[in-house]
Amino acid sequence: MGKPYIGIPREKIPWFPEVDAEKCIGCGECLETCPNGVFILNEESKTVEVSNPSNCVVLCDKCAGFCKVEAISFPDKEETKRLIRSLLREKDGHERKTGV
Ligand code: SF4
Ligand code: SF4
Repeated sequence: MGKPYIGIPREKIPWFPEVDAEKCIGCGECLETCPNGVFILNEESKTVEVSNPSNCVVLCDKCAGFCKVEAISFPDKEETKRLIRSLLREKDGHERKTGV
């Protein structure tokens, strides 16, 4: 379980990379780029997999830019921002009602 993002439980925000195993050439650039242990190298297939999705920093997409074969993708950023805004409104409403 990742750290909450501005008070929202991390697992409610579906923001993390996906790796296309067909495209991945196992170069390891993403592993080196990300300081958060999101990826792991599958020694058998020699491709990188996402092992800790909730460690990904919400709205970061840095690693995708380092992948020469464009194997890394993310959800739509604007849609994710809209979801975050709606989760925040929900949280604020709940806090006003319950005082917590
Ligand atoms: S940077 Fe791209 S090709 Fe290289 S290991 Fe990561 S996903 Fe695979
Ligand atoms: S987007 Fe950022 S935090 Fe997430 S996996 Fe890539 S480099 Fe790591």
